[in-house]
Amino acid sequence: MIIVVKDHQDEKQIHNLTDWIKSLGLDLHISRGENSLVIGLIGDTSKVDIDLIRSLDIVESVQRIQEPYKNANRKFHPQDTVIDVKGHKFGGGHFQIIAGPCSVESEEQVLTIAKAVKAAGATCLRGGAFKPRTSPYAFQGLGVVGLDYLRKAREETGMPIVTEIMSPEFIDEFADVDIIQVGARNMQNFDLLKKLGRVDKPILLKRGLANTIEEWLMSAEYIMSEGNQQVILCERGIRTFEPYTRNTLDLSAIPLLKEKTHLPVIVDPSHASGLSRLVRPMSLAAVGAGCDGLIIEVHNDPSHALCDGAQSLRPEQFKEVVDNIDVMLPIVGKERDK
Ligand code: PEP
Ligand code: MN
Repeated sequence: MIIVVKDHQDEKQIHNLTDWIKSLGLDLHISRGENSLVIGLIGDTSKVDIDLIRSLDIVESVQRIQEPYKNANRKFHPQDTVIDVKGHKFGGGHFQIIAGPCSVESEEQVLTIAKAVKAAGATCLRGGAFKPRTSPYAFQGLGVVGLDYLRKAREETGMPIVTEIMSPEFIDEFADVDIIQVGARNMQNFDLLKKLGRVDKPILLKRGLANTIEEWLMSAEYIMSEGNQQVILCERGIRTFEPYTRNTLDLSAIPLLKEKTHLPVIVDPSHASGLSRLVRPMSLAAVGAGCDGLIIEVHNDPSHALCDGAQSLRPEQFKEVVDNIDVMLPIVGKERDK
C-alpha cells in the first residue's frame, strides 16, 4: 500500500501517521521528493482500513498494490486449485458439467431429469430443495424432503449432488451433500460463509446480483480464512440496465478471475440469461472465455416447471449444448470429465 502525503505537512503530523502505521505491525519505506512525501507500507496490509487512511487530513491519496484477499490470491498459490468431488475434478484443465432442474419438485421428476442429463454428459446433478424466491407466495422448494429426493437420485445414478443452502441453521442437513451451493442472494451472508468455512466440503459460491469481482473474492476469502479451501466460483450474471435478459453475463470476469485466483471458475448461463434459447450461445462463449465448467438448468417439462421454466433446457437441447462444447474444448485446452 502506498500513501501520498499532502504538500507542506508538519513533521509532527507525519510522525503521528508513521507511528500509527508501525503500531499495526507494518514496516515503512519513506521517500521524500521536492514537493511530496510517499510512504510505502511493507507487510500484510490486508487488515488495514484503507478508507480510514484516506480520511486523514494529511493524506492526499492511498493505493493498494496488493489485493486484500490472500487465500484466494494466485500470487500466493500460483497453481490451479483442483477440487475433487467423488472423482470428478474441478479446475486444472478438467471441465465439468453440472445439470438438473432449478428446483426439486418430486422424486420422480428429479430422477427422470438426473438420468437424462447423465446420459447427455453431465457429471453432477443440481436441484434446489430450498429456493430463494423473490415472492413469498412463489414455490419455496420442498426443503429437507427435496434433499431426500436428491439423495435417492444420487443413489440411482451415482451423480454427486449440488444444492443450495440458504441458512446456517440447516448445515447439519447438508452433511452428505456433495457440493453446497451459496446462491447469489447469500454471497455476502457472512455468518453463513464463516460457518461453511468450517465444513470439509466443496462450496459453489455464486456471484452476487450486484457485486464486484473483488467483493466476490472477499466472500471466497471468508470461507477460506476459516479453513475450507474448496471453493468453486460461479459467474451467474449481474444486474445491469438491460431488461431483455434476466441478468448480464459478465464474460470478462472469467479470464480476469483466472489471473487473480487459483480457484476453479464455472458459469451458469441459465440464470445469466433467463432465456433457454440463449443458454447454448452463452455456454459456448463461456467455454471460449476459459471457464472450468458449467451449471445448466434442465427440465423434462419446462412449461410446467415450478421454477425457472423459461430458462430451462429440455434434455435433448442440453445434449446438443454438450455436443457443441465438446467441439470447442480442445481449442481451449480442456478435457470434459465423463
Ligand atoms: C439457482 O441456482 O437456482 C439460483 C437460485 O441461482 P442464483 O443464486 O444464481 O440466482
Ligand atoms: Mn433457477
